[in-house]
Order: sequence, then structure tokens, then C-alpha cells
Amino acid sequence: MDLETPLKFVKGVGPARAEMLESKGLRVVADLLTYAPFRYEDRSKVKRVSELAPGEMATVVVRVHSVKAPGFQKRRLGMFEANFSDGGTATLDGKWFHGQYLKNVLVPGLQVALYGKVEFDGYTRRLTMMHPEFEVIPDDDDPEASLHTGRIVPVYEAAGKITTRVFRQLLHQVLETLTPVDDPLPESVMARLKLPSYWEAIRQLHFPAPDVDLRTLNGFASPAHFRLIFEEFFWLECGLALKRAKAREMEGIAFQLTDAVREKIKAMLPFKPTGAQKRVLAEIAQDMAAGRPMNRLLQGDVGSGKTLVAAEAAIIAIENGYQAALLAPTEILATQHYFSFRNLFHKIGYVVVLLTGSQTKGEKQQIKKLIGSGLTPMVVGTHALIEEDVEFHKLGLAIIDEQHRFGVMQRLLLQKKGVTPDVLVMTATPIPRTLALTVYGDLDTSVIDEMPPGRKAIVTRHVSEERIELVWGFLREQIDVGRQAYVVYPAIEESEAMKAAEEMHRHLKERVFRDLKVELLHGRLKAADKEDVMRRFQQGEVQILVATTVIEVGVDVANATVMVIENAERYGLAQLHQLRGRVGRGAEQSYCVLVTGKLNDAGRERMRTLTDSTDGFHIAEMDLRLRGPGEFFGTRQSGLPALRIGNIIRDRDTLELARSEALGFIEKPPSVEESRRAITYLKDHWQRRYGLVQVA
Ligand code: ADP
Ligand code: MG
Repeated sequence: MDLETPLKFVKGVGPARAEMLESKGLRVVADLLTYAPFRYEDRSKVKRVSELAPGEMATVVVRVHSVKAPGFQKRRLGMFEANFSDGGTATLDGKWFHGQYLKNVLVPGLQVALYGKVEFDGYTRRLTMMHPEFEVIPDDDDPEASLHTGRIVPVYEAAGKITTRVFRQLLHQVLETLTPVDDPLPESVMARLKLPSYWEAIRQLHFPAPDVDLRTLNGFASPAHFRLIFEEFFWLECGLALKRAKAREMEGIAFQLTDAVREKIKAMLPFKPTGAQKRVLAEIAQDMAAGRPMNRLLQGDVGSGKTLVAAEAAIIAIENGYQAALLAPTEILATQHYFSFRNLFHKIGYVVVLLTGSQTKGEKQQIKKLIGSGLTPMVVGTHALIEEDVEFHKLGLAIIDEQHRFGVMQRLLLQKKGVTPDVLVMTATPIPRTLALTVYGDLDTSVIDEMPPGRKAIVTRHVSEERIELVWGFLREQIDVGRQAYVVYPAIEESEAMKAAEEMHRHLKERVFRDLKVELLHGRLKAADKEDVMRRFQQGEVQILVATTVIEVGVDVANATVMVIENAERYGLAQLHQLRGRVGRGAEQSYCVLVTGKLNDAGRERMRTLTDSTDGFHIAEMDLRLRGPGEFFGTRQSGLPALRIGNIIRDRDTLELARSEALGFIEKPPSVEESRRAITYLKDHWQRRYGLVQVA
């Protein structure tokens, strides 16, 4: 047996268990070894019930004496109670709300270890634990009992029917059988950071020494944890650094920054670019002029003017005789970009075409022919651009908007439509640094950190849904002075949002605002109808636009000053901030109203983040902290690496350290031998461990 042995060949793991393990991403022995306990319990000091004192956290080994199934008195509904004894004089009660399921588990006579806070119940005048953790201890447990009690015991998240006890047994057995392996981490790094060896760290992770502080273990902060977390980040960052170095070596297009380019840009500009726009354009232009492919991430808060910069970059490519393409995640956004680019490029005589999935076969055929002939220098489109058999005449610049909705794969696919074209990824979701380091670690970054002049900060209010009439009153005032408004239903499920939006549309149109033009926009409308509604809203013919999140990413109407967001509590802060960015685009004061149901403290806190701040980075950090990285991007296709033990929020400092160590190691390896070893290790493990695109 070695680290790469599939778990199904490990003693005690049959095909059924192997499958359960697989559901947690555990396939080979190495995976099991880094399956970190989510908690540790000190059972080295198992107490007698008679020694317990109220207020302390304690472990006892006891038997179920009697149980009280849930009663039907109102106050007790759903409460499961059991009385436990260790044969001594005192007994202990355990209580679980909604504990009906325990009826068939905690049967009288059963031996269990209970862990929890000891309380004194003033009503029954007995010692009690509320919702204690418990673990069944079979009577024939003896030979291996020391695995589960009498020490600091790791608690693992179950995998299907594989309980924490089975994990302990498996790990014990595997660690007994395996011969220690060479340390994968470079020696120089190990020495500098005084890291414990891999082997030592793995042992300590599952069999902590008796003197280790429990809080350190539970905080994932023991030396063993640190070593393993560091290692995970180190390889990830090495992989990203290598990818980047590799991209730097590739031959790309060296665009010429000629006078003709400058003239065209000048002729196109509808207004004076902000300082930030100028700065990032300079960064982009420098990349484009260099003889290697650009891989740049352009970050800028919603409304900061990324489109203009993208258009400038496109001009550089086009004036050099290449085509530029812009890939957008939704049809509405693609359409919106198409309009923007058409407006910007109309003056300078560039043809812009749009390719989306909902066009007819004939239309698509015709557009594809144009793209292939090179007659159209600027192409805007959705997934259709990469899915359909689109062939470019000479693609030189690929611009990808809202990248995190695409995967890394899609980025590559579009790139492949040209011969090493330059790639510019735009995102309006400010990405906290820790995430940027992990997901976009292979990209250079530019940030637009300045808003176009004359913008007023959006005023945001939180209103409970019972007071919605006030909101409609306010909306009416704004419309009376000539403004327009959005009423939005963001939802995870488009169909659900659609229904809600349809109902609201009817309600507003037929009851609240009978004298006004209220229109509906959602993802299932035909492209032509969407365009029509959007055009009429843009031209001011429609005063209120009721929509699903489809407008999240596109619409640009300066006269719209009110954004009402229904069910705001159900969505991420970053997403809400994005939506809000659809107003506040003109000189008038704009407003955002967050309508929610009843909220708990955490929910109110979330809304307060938005009413108090308009700083996208601050909001994104909060969102990341509150919801975690997976949810943050709201999609599995986010390109997030599957980390096993590291957590980019909790371990951000370790991540920073690992990054700088990795960069140093890749750029200046201490020895050829160490470097070769590390790269071999990385090649063997990168793809499988992180599911990321191959390094080489
Ligand atoms: P983003 O894509 O970053 O969310 P947009 O490119 O859609 O932002 O720009 C937001 C609005 O600001 C648009 O109406 C755009 O025309 C306008 N805008 C962009 N740059 C400037 C500028 N330098 N001065 C004035 N208005 C600008
Ligand atoms: Mg935009």
C-alpha cells in the first residue's frame, strides 16, 4: 500500500464504502490521510457523572438509563429526553429539540460517550446537557477502545454510513501499515519555516499528542495543521506561478501602438476617460504591445467604465488588422454590449456583429460567414461563440466579461479560436484578494478604482415588506419628476423569479400604477421582445421595468434612479451590490430599496452592510466571509480549486505566505534537483488534487 493506492483496495473498505468515500472526494490513501477532523474532543479526562459541575464542557462515558419520547404538551413538542448513568450515584439528563429521530438510536442500555456543556436545570433540579454530541461505544469495543476514548479524539464528518468511528479505525490501520514516505515539500522551504515533516503532521492530525492544546487543534492552528494547510496552498500557488511563467514564454502577437491607433481611440471616445481608465489602458496596451500573450484581469466596480477600456483595447487589435471578440455570460448582457459597442464604434466606421444562441439558424449562418471572412472586426456574443463552429478570420483579442460565470475551460476555448490571442478578463464583482490569488493567480491584474465624475452615491434603504406601500409612494414621486425605476426579483431559479415578477408586473400595472407604462423583462422572452422592451425603457417610453436578475449585468439607463429589490434577504451581498449598480449612472440622486421579510440579527447585519457602504470591495469581503467561497461565486463552474484542508478565509495569512514562498521557489529555485523534484510532484498531483487545468 502507498499514498496512491485506491481506497477500495484498503482492508475494511469494500466497493460500497469506497463509493461513500468518493462522495467526499476521497479516492486514494493520500486523500484519506488529509481528511481533517472538523473537531477534536478531549476524552483523555473522561469524568464521572458525580464529578460534573455546571458550566463546564465535559465528556462522560455512560449508558442510557431511560428515555422520554417527545411529549405532546405544547412546550415540549419535539423534545427528546434521555437519562444517563455511569453506575455511580448521580445521573445526567440529555435533551434534544426536534430529537424524535433519536427514539430508535438511544435505546436503554446503550453505552455512549457524551460531550457537551453541563447545566443545572432549575426546573427538574438535575444536571443536564442540551444537545450534547454523542458517540455510541459498543460493548465489545475493547481492543480498539483506545482509539475512541482516553485520548484527544478526532471527530470526522461522516461520509454516508461511514461514521467518525470508522474513520478513526481506517486511519489507524492505514497509518500502521504505511511506511513513511519522502516529504514532498522542498527541503529549503521546510527548513526555513521549521515545518514538521509530512509524516509527522499526518500522525498529529489524527493522533494528536496528549499535551496539545485543544483550542489550537480546533482552530486548525496546530503545527500539524499549519504544515498541511501551507502545503496545500504552496502547491496550488506553485502551479499557478508555473502556468503564468509558461504563458510568459509563449509567443504572442506584438501589436503596434501606432498613431493610427491613437487617432482612432481619440475619435471614438465619447468623454474624457478617468485617471483610472487611462492607467489601466496603459497597462493593457503595454501587454498587447509585448510579444507574449496578454492574460489580464480587469477589475472595476459596477459602473466604473470597463466597457470603454475594453473598446479601446479592441481598437488596438483592430487597427493592427486583427479581430476582437467579446464573450458575455447572458444573452441580455451580450445584447447590451452589442449596443454599447455599436454606439462607440459607429463613429469610427467599425462593423459590430452579435452572435447568440437564440438567433435563427439562418441568421447564425450568415454571421458566422461574416466572422470567418474577416469583414467584421468586432464580434460580441454569448456561449454560442465558443460552442458553435465559429471560425474567426484572425482573432487577436478575446475579451471575456464576468469571467467567474465561465470556467477556466471556456476561457481556454475562446483563446483557441485564435493563434495565441491576447486575453482580457473583465469582472464587475470585486474579488477579494485571497480569492483572486487562488482563482486568478495566473492572471495579471488591473483595477479601475475611480468612478466617472459627477456620480452621486446611491442612497440605500432597507424596508420590510409590510411597508411596501411606502415604497410605491416613493416610486411614484420619482416618476412624477420624470425618473424611471426597476423592480427586481433576483432568484436562484429563473422560473421561480419569473413567476414572482409576472405577478408583480400584473399587480403594479393593474392596480398601483394604472396610469403608467409598466413592462416585464425576463430570461424566457424572445430575443426580439427583450430588445424591444429594453429599447423602450432606454428611450423613456416605459417608466417601470419589472425584471428578474437578467438585468443584473447589462442595462445602462442614466434616467433610471430607483431600484427596488424584492426578497433581498435571499441573495448574496455582492449580487445585490451589482444590481444596485444599475442605478446611479446619471447626475440625479439615485436610490436603492431592499425589501425583505422578517429578518434575524444576521440578516439585518447583512442589509446594513449594503445600506452603510457602496464600496464593492468591502461588500465582497463581507460576502465572502458570510457565505464562503463556493457560494460567493454562486456557481460550481467558478474555477475554484477544491481545497481539502485549507480555507482561504480562515487561513488567509498562510495563503499569503505560501504564495510568496511559491513565487520565490519557482523564480529562484535553490537547486536544480529540488526544483525538478517539485515540478514532477506537481505534475503528478496538480490536476487530480485541484481539478485545475494542466500546467504543462
Ligand atoms: P461597467 O461596465 O464598469 O459597469 P460601464 O462601462 O457600463 O461600467 O460604464 C458605466 C457608465 O459610465 C456608462 O454609462 C458609461 O457610458 C459611463 N462612463 C464610462 N466612463 C466614463 C467617463 N470617463 N466619463 C463619464 N462617463 C463614463
Ligand atoms: Mg459593464
